[in-house]
Amino acid sequence: MSSISGKTKICGIIGDPIEHTMSPAMHNAAFGALDLDYIYLPFRVRREELKGAMNGMRALNIAGLNVTIPHKSDVIPLLNKLDPLAGRMGAVNTIVNEDGKLTGDNTDAPGFLRALRSKGVEPDGKKIVILGAGGAAKGISFILAGAGASLVILNRTLSRAEELASQIASYYGRKLTAMTLSEKNLKHTLDGADVLVNTTSVGMVPDVGQTPVPSGLLKPDMTVFDIVYNPRETRLLREAKAAGARTIDGLDMLVWQGALAFEKWTGREAPFEIMKGAAVKALGHER
Ligand code: NAP
Repeated sequence: MSSISGKTKICGIIGDPIEHTMSPAMHNAAFGALDLDYIYLPFRVRREELKGAMNGMRALNIAGLNVTIPHKSDVIPLLNKLDPLAGRMGAVNTIVNEDGKLTGDNTDAPGFLRALRSKGVEPDGKKIVILGAGGAAKGISFILAGAGASLVILNRTLSRAEELASQIASYYGRKLTAMTLSEKNLKHTLDGADVLVNTTSVGMVPDVGQTPVPSGLLKPDMTVFDIVYNPRETRLLREAKAAGARTIDGLDMLVWQGALAFEKWTGREAPFEIMKGAAVKALGHER
C-alpha cells in the first residue's frame, strides 16, 4: 500500500484479545509487495459486539476479515454463506464480503496441508499420528482424512479424542483410532508412523521446556510437524531434528493460512516469502 485514498480497500482481523496478532504485518507487507491498494487493520471485538461487527463489515464495505479467538464459531450464524469445509469444522477464520453478502471460509486446515505438501510430504496413504483434539486438531484431522491419510488421534482427555474420531469416521465412513495421550500409547502408535502432528499447546511460551513426546520415541524416518509457532523451534522440534526426523514448524501453517485468505480477498497469488519474512519479524518483536 503506497498511500491511503478514497479507493483503498479495507481488510482486517477481529478477535479479543488482538494485540499479539501477526496478521497485519503479514498482509500489509503482501499488499505493499504487490502494490495493491489495500490496508489491513486489527479490530478488537468483544463477544457481545460480534453481531454489530458483522453489520459494520457490511455497512462500511470492509472487503475481508480474518476471525480469531473467541469468534470462530459464533460468527457462523451471522454470515450469508458458508464454505462446506468450514461448516464441517464449525469454525470460520476468513470472511469475504461481496456486495454485503458475507461468505465464511476456513484457511487454517488448508494452510496446514499446504505447509505439509510444500515440504514434500503427501498425506495420501500415510499413517499420521495427531496429538490433541481441540479446535486446531479438528480442522487438521478432517483435511488429512479427506486427503487419504490414516489417522490415530491421541489426547489428554480421551472423550474429546473419541468425539473427534467418531465425527470424522461418520463423515468419511472409515474407522479411526482414538487414545489417551500417554507414553505407552505413543510408543505403540509411533511405531510405523510416517507423520507426527502436535496440535496441543504443550511446548508453547511460557512452557518452552515441555514436550508432548519423550525424545526416545522420535525416529529418523518420521516427519514431525509442530503447529505451535511461539517459539518457532519447540523442544519437540529440536529433539526431532536431533533424532534425524524431518521437521515443520507452526509458522509455515500460520503464513499459509494468511496467504490463502489473501488470495480469496485479492484474487492474486500471495507473495509467501514476503509474508513469512514479515511474520518472522513480528514474532521477534513479540519476544
Ligand atoms: P484448544 O482448542 O484449546 O486445544 C488445546 C489442545 O491442547 C487440547 O487437545 C488439549 O487437551 C491439549 N492440551 C493443552 N494442555 C495440555 C497439556 N498440558 N498436556 C496435554 N495436552 C494438553 O487450542 P487450539 O486452538 O486447538 O490450539 C492448540 C495449539 O495450536 C496452540 O498452541 C495454538 O497456538 C496452536 N495453533 C497454531 C496455528 C498455526 O497456524 N500454526 C493455528 C491454530 C492453533 P485437552 O482436550 O485434554 O484439554
